[in-house]
This record gives sequence, C-alpha cells and structure tokens, in this order.
Amino acid sequence: MITSIEILGTEELLLQRNPRAAAVHQAIVARGREAVIALNERFDDPSDDTAMERLDTELEAIVERSVSEYVRQASGLFSAEDVDLWTAKISRVPGSYVGRAAAVGVPGALLLMESVEEAESEENSTFVSLDDTLSNIAGYCQCGYATSRIVPRQLCRLCSGGVLIAWRTEEDQVIATAPKVRSELHAVFEELLDELATIHLATGDASAETPARRRAGNTGITRVNETYAEEIALLDLTRWRELSDLNQLSQITAVTAHAKHWSQWGLGSARLAMQSDPEIQARMRRIAGSRPAPKPSLFERLFSRR
Ligand SMILES: [Zn+2]
Repeated sequence: MITSIEILGTEELLLQRNPRAAAVHQAIVARGREAVIALNERFDDPSDDTAMERLDTELEAIVERSVSEYVRQASGLFSAEDVDLWTAKISRVPGSYVGRAAAVGVPGALLLMESVEEAESEENSTFVSLDDTLSNIAGYCQCGYATSRIVPRQLCRLCSGGVLIAWRTEEDQVIATAPKVRSELHAVFEELLDELATIHLATGDASAETPARRRAGNTGITRVNETYAEEIALLDLTRWRELSDLNQLSQITAVTAHAKHWSQWGLGSARLAMQSDPEIQARMRRIAGSRPAPKPSLFERLFSRR
C-alpha cells in the first residue's frame, strides 16, 4: 500500500531534480510559514473556542492561497513523465487530505500543504530549560523538587510535566547528532502517529493509545536502537539516563505506563512517553480531512513560550 509518506518522498525527489520548481516551492513555503507563525501570535489562547475556530479558518485561507500560488507558478515546470509518475502514485492514497493535493495536479502540492501547516506545531514546541521551568513553578510545586532539587519519592504534577519536557528536549538534542537514528525513529513515529490518530478518530478515548504505544516501543524503537547500537554507544546519554530515572517518579499515568521498558527500548522512549496532542491532531486532520481545534496539553500551555 502506498502511504502519504511515500508521496512526500516522491515529491522531494521530483523537486530535487527540478531546481526551478524547487525554488518556487521554497519561496511559497517560506511565505506561508511566516504567515502561519504571525497568525499564531495573534491567537494565543487555546481555551477560547471561538478564537480557535477563527484561527482554523485563517490557517485554511493561508494554505489555500499558498496552493493557488504554487499552481500558478509551478504547473508548467514539470515534465509530463514526472506529472504522470506523481499522479499514478498519489491517486492510490486514500483520504481527503491527500485527495486535495492530488486535485491540485502539480507535484509538490502535498509537501507544500504539510510544510505550511507544520509551522503551527513547531511554533508551539519551544520549551524553556528545566532550570527555568522549575524556577517558574517553584511557587506552586507540591513535592519540593522545584525549590530544593532534592528528589522526592514521587514528583508533583507540575514537576512531572517539567521533567518530561526536559527529557524529550534532551533526547531530541542527542538524536540530532545521529542522523541515521534520527531518520529511522522519525519513520517509527510517523507510523505511530497515523495509528494514534486513527484510534482517536474511532474511539475518542486516549487510554486506547497505551497498547499502540507499547507495540511501537517493543518493535520499532527497540529495532532502531539495536540496529544502530554501535553508533548510539558513541553518544553521551548520561543526562538522558538521569532524566529517564527522574521520569520514573512521574505522576502522569500515561508516562509511567511504559516506564519499566525505557531502559530496554532506548532512544525514542522520551518522545513516546510524551502525549503530544498537537501532533496527533494535525495527523487526525490529514486522515479525516477535518481539523479538530488544537488543544495543547496543560503542560504544553504552562511551559511553552511563543
Ligand atoms: Zn514539585
């Protein structure tokens, strides 16, 4: 079966060997992303449903504008063979989101839509350091860790959120230095996100995620860590392990659900532990063709800096 990920790969390839189309693509993506980031700055209260609906409408308008501009500028730039190859593949992928890109009729449309919309979730994911986070929450911390840095038997909910984000950030930094590990883990999470989004669309019940996450850990993440064991052995995982230990004391059930497997799974465990609502919701939109209003988790709202 062909997936949307394969289409994105095909589009990247076609653009790579077509510098004129690639330049058009790049310029329109850059403008679109700028507009999305500016839009997010205007709407910064995720609890305001009316505002979130307006944000959704305006986001849609930016994507629409980017797509029409791309059609205008790039439709003559691809050879008939390239268009045929792309059409043959993209028409085999189900779903109205991909269908919308297919209807555009110009290779690169799906990548364009994705890149413009992605500016939104990336914009939401810049976190402050653990030290800053702990200082920010010191006045509300119930377990003492934020003020004393003495490790308690169990972290309070605020500290649990802080150490989880710190662990994920540390993992991202470590993985950034190992490109193969990074791209293989990326593929595992692409597949998992599809699965999680499908579960949410079908049941709307977050607890139904646990078996899917466990499977991804036991199979995909473990396989990547085993395959690249030599490369990973050269990385400094000291801080990653410290934070992994600290997260064992988390009060977030969805995090500790897999805690005893982390040492065996390895890199990727932090991302798996983190419930990233915006990512899952973006994927739900791609699969269902409609986009539920983004609802960042409590911790993401507390610790993210726009
Ligand atoms: Zn605390």
